Amino acid sequence: MNADVLSLHQLVKRYGGLVATDHLDLNIRHGEIHAIIGPNGAGKTTLIQQISGAIAPDRGRICFHGQDITRTTMHQRVRLGLARSYQITSVFPACSVLDNIALAVQARRGSSMRFWKPALADGALFEEARAIGCRIGLAARLDMRAGHLAHGEQRQLEVGLALATSPALLLLDEPMAGMGDSTGMIALLDSLRNQLGIVLIEHDMHAVFQLADRISVLVSGRIIATGTAEQIRSDAQVRKAYLGDE
Ligand code: ATP
Repeated sequence: MNADVLSLHQLVKRYGGLVATDHLDLNIRHGEIHAIIGPNGAGKTTLIQQISGAIAPDRGRICFHGQDITRTTMHQRVRLGLARSYQITSVFPACSVLDNIALAVQARRGSSMRFWKPALADGALFEEARAIGCRIGLAARLDMRAGHLAHGEQRQLEVGLALATSPALLLLDEPMAGMGDSTGMIALLDSLRNQLGIVLIEHDMHAVFQLADRISVLVSGRIIATGTAEQIRSDAQVRKAYLGDE
């Protein structure tokens, strides 16, 4: 059950003279919520971009289910079961919540968007979309235009769009950003635990400590500690380098 879904071996990414990822090793277990925390500029987004395939590492290997995917495209990684939800809102505001999810399910199935109209008659497609809508806590909002959702609900929908690709690993870059109340998102991510692996980049420490099975602390492109919330909280090196203690 707890086999590694993702493993990074000696990953290096440089921007000119700046080493954004510095010989980084990391394993993500199947079904775990693994948070990556660190100060601004530590290299968190750069890391997630390399895992998703948006940028290529200069050195090192990325393995997904034991398969080397370092040189595969972003599109191929999505097909293998690696999904990413973005910091930037990516829903179609004029479409209903249900249609947004159905479009994402249809995209996974590889159907052309030109055939969207006929697909409206596809009961199985909408059944799956409805199930995802319920899974993300938006059962009562399925007929609402996505643009009319509250900010937090839109972020939940973005997770739903990622879930529509049936991922084994979900990469989340600050899913609580700009949220006054993150209760709904915390409940949603908690409900996904043990179903798929989640890599969570998040500045909201309350959410991180509440959700994460394990936390890795990234400083200057290197992981200085990995452990449970308890272990990270009491790690002297982490407290000094990141949590602000003298
Ligand atoms: P934040 O928490 O502020 O989002 P982060 O931990 O996600 O930061 P990154 O955005 O990955 O950090 O940036 C890591 C380092 O790499 C920073 O010093 C940043 O300025 C630099 N960097 C990121 N992208 C580029 C780029 N395209 N070109 C040059 N330098 C970059």
